[in-house]
Amino acid sequence: MLQASTIDVLNNTFGYKDFRAGQSDIINAILLKKNILAIMPTGAGKSLCYQIPAIINELRTIVISPLIALMDDQVNALKQNKVSAERLHSHMSEEENSKIWKNFCKGNIQILYMSPEALMRESKLKIIKELNIGLFIIDEAHCISKWGHGFRKDYENLSNLKDLFPNSNICAFTATADKATREDIIEKLTKGNCDLFLQSLKRPNLSLTVHQKFNWKEQLLKFLIDKKKQSGIVYCLSRKNTEAVAEFLNNNGFKSIAYHAGQNNNIREKNQNTFMTETGIVMAATIAFGMGIDKPDVRFVAHISLPTNIEEYYQEVGRAGRDGKPSDTMMIYGLDDLYQRRRFIEEGSSNEEHKRMDHRRLDALLAFCETASCRQVSLLGYFSEKTESCGICDNCLNPPMLEDGTELAQIVLSAIYRIGQSFGSNYIIDVLMGVNSGTNSEKIIKNNHDKIKTFGRGKEYKKKFWQSFIRQLISSNHIVINIEKYGIYQITNTGFQLLKSEREFKYKSITISETSPTKKYRKKDDIEIKDDEMPLLQKLKELRLELAKKQNVPAFVVFADQTLLHMVETKPQTLGEMKQIIGIGPHKLEKYGKIFLDTISS
Ligand code: ADP
Ligand code: ZN
Repeated sequence: MLQASTIDVLNNTFGYKDFRAGQSDIINAILLKKNILAIMPTGAGKSLCYQIPAIINELRTIVISPLIALMDDQVNALKQNKVSAERLHSHMSEEENSKIWKNFCKGNIQILYMSPEALMRESKLKIIKELNIGLFIIDEAHCISKWGHGFRKDYENLSNLKDLFPNSNICAFTATADKATREDIIEKLTKGNCDLFLQSLKRPNLSLTVHQKFNWKEQLLKFLIDKKKQSGIVYCLSRKNTEAVAEFLNNNGFKSIAYHAGQNNNIREKNQNTFMTETGIVMAATIAFGMGIDKPDVRFVAHISLPTNIEEYYQEVGRAGRDGKPSDTMMIYGLDDLYQRRRFIEEGSSNEEHKRMDHRRLDALLAFCETASCRQVSLLGYFSEKTESCGICDNCLNPPMLEDGTELAQIVLSAIYRIGQSFGSNYIIDVLMGVNSGTNSEKIIKNNHDKIKTFGRGKEYKKKFWQSFIRQLISSNHIVINIEKYGIYQITNTGFQLLKSEREFKYKSITISETSPTKKYRKKDDIEIKDDEMPLLQKLKELRLELAKKQNVPAFVVFADQTLLHMVETKPQTLGEMKQIIGIGPHKLEKYGKIFLDTISS
């Protein structure tokens, strides 16, 4: 009986044929008057899960949403489907708001969207108490938790809802919440009386890549080489960065605009609209850009510096590929980013406990960046979800080589120890490399650090090598950056064990091409893909994914990216020509040759 009516609403109101994974269970639980917390990845279809019960329910529903644009979109979409829905917010006139409010009180509106601050006003609460609200929906519920990445004070006030409305059903939705955040949401909103719906956060169409940063311009262009005319987002640390990135991309054949909280509302809105309605725009944005961005064909997301933590990273990369088609992501980061992030935490206004927690979250992100195993496995592992290797991340495609770095690490640690654990990375590297000219040399001589045993012991390696190596020592918790003391590097207990040879240290091999991406980028045999060839590349990638899925193997097992690029460039017409393509031997020719030829000529 219940099932029939929910599917009726799905078919007849929304025009969709079947429920997606998880939707039906959540809807039924809400209809059974359970409090729930549902965690579903972006794009999975959270809204329907509460809109259908709200439509079926005889009692009215209030939806709390943090973002005006999001409320407008949802309400417009519902009205299109002839559902009686409205919203109250500060961008509407007083007359409009008061008319809607009156109508809601009279029972003429079934679903009302509002902001947390509008709801938790005492005068409003008094009236709402009399209205017998059936259902409170808290969207983006992670904002309630101080452990979450988007904490909002006005959301925290929602903790009183359960006391105020003991007979109402409280249902919370979010796309990301780690264990601590989840527990906090459940406790605050429902005092523990809540069913948890955890849907797989896996996004199998996203390829995740993380590189160390050498030169963001070159690395970004390299990432974008096959992405002309595609829509994408480049996340930047500062407002100034967004402008610089947009300008740089515009000068390099892309169409790019900036978005950040410092722009006036009109410009921000205009830029967002351009991105949402046109194709082929690269949005260079700060974290301010994102919540509620429901553009299905965002083909890539790049981070040119370190995000705050894994949740934020997951949300941001999650804006790519909502249509389920293959989409690429890349993050580049360096020691400077790490230092900045630590400083942000220290200089922030949170209390000591939260600062410690934020540092730990940053550590977890760092471990993700430096992992030598599958990125999806590492990312989902953070949210307590187990998964198979994805086959399309950088580590799956090019498993990093691990090398014994015990002796090199001892040189670094010993240098840090001998200079009194009182300096930052540049100074340490100059000591290691025996630099006697440069910004630190005077200081080094004055401090007599050119006399220590390790001075110059790392001469044969380049500065970039040491930066990468030291970062790996930090991410493996052998060194910590002491932010309270101006970012000096100190040795941890594990670091001392390593120094005393009580443990070994393996590091991800740092290759020459990695340390000089310019060379690789400008290599003559780099394959150039033209704009009008992009659809073909996309088709081949989809075919590859389909074949891989059928055999339950990673995509690269079918063909590497380079093979597809080469195919697009040369467009073989015969099996003989196909055999000339990089990465196609007789077996693969027999197995895949024909189907790829067909796709190329179709
Ligand atoms: P999110 O989980 O990110 O909030 P939305 O609720 O915005 O996702 O849904 C993403 C898109 O998927 C929307 O366009 C929505 O209409 C669509 N959608 C949701 N459920 C279904 C379904 N069962 N069948 C088809 N499309 C659906
Ligand atoms: Zn992987």
